[in-house]
Amino acid sequence: MTTPVYRFAPSPNGPLHLGHALSALTAFDLAQRAGGRFLLRIEDIDVTRCREEFVTGIVEDLSWLGIAWEEPVLCQSQHFATYVQAAQWLEAQGLLYPCFAARSEIEAAVSPGAVDPDGASIYPGLHKNLAPAQIETRMQNGERFALRIDMEKALAKAHERLGGAPLTFTELSADGTPQLIAAHPERWGDAVILRKDVPASYHLAVVVDDARQGVTHVTRGRDLYAATDLHRLLQVLLGLPEPAYHHHPLLAGSDGRKLSKSAGDTGLAELRAGGATPTDIRRMAGIG
Ligand code: GLU
Repeated sequence: MTTPVYRFAPSPNGPLHLGHALSALTAFDLAQRAGGRFLLRIEDIDVTRCREEFVTGIVEDLSWLGIAWEEPVLCQSQHFATYVQAAQWLEAQGLLYPCFAARSEIEAAVSPGAVDPDGASIYPGLHKNLAPAQIETRMQNGERFALRIDMEKALAKAHERLGGAPLTFTELSADGTPQLIAAHPERWGDAVILRKDVPASYHLAVVVDDARQGVTHVTRGRDLYAATDLHRLLQVLLGLPEPAYHHHPLLAGSDGRKLSKSAGDTGLAELRAGGATPTDIRRMAGIG
């Protein structure tokens, strides 16, 4: 049997809070219990929002919690070339197309009520059928573009790759019981695979890196449950191995809303400064 590999993959665009502690400790504890490896990955593709001081804070907070990870830590901003390569490969299969449209143009064309699982408008297909000559002219003019997935073609290709079997993922419950879940990536529409502003996207980078790092168990919050559908599609299209998933319940703030980075009173550094111990954090995060 191969050693299982777990990971925690925060984005350094704010200080860690109790919700992150829950994710990191859940993944770390599962790794320990399984005799597995544990990795930290810094998801810093968003170069305008990510800051070095937050990376330093992540390392401090996790170390304080008693979490240990293997070195070196993978930072996604060091690997843009590989995300571009993966996107180019998909593009060569005819599964991606360039979209030059500005956000305002897209918003003006969306159908009301057609939203993806994150609540963002479904792309209305504006530049889906641009003529090759038009594409070439716009590219020659130096117009920037995103690469979007042609969902219809991508689903057909995945169907073919899977020999007609349905696209699924394995969700492990907290006690490790597996459940096969049907994936429905079509609810994301023609999602962006390579952004206009940075040569990556969360969805592409996460699948490329989970495979690069040999991650066998993806542990993260329920807020990313629907994203797994798209991740499974990309894994099948790129011929990447399939990890098992565990999406843990989210912590709600005292007002019942999901915790966010701005939830100052749950920031780990503040709690530590206020005298909380790692055991207190475990209790507050609902981990026994
Ligand atoms: N970087 C993502 C976040 O901080 C998590 C990615 C993942 O666990 O797949 O929300």
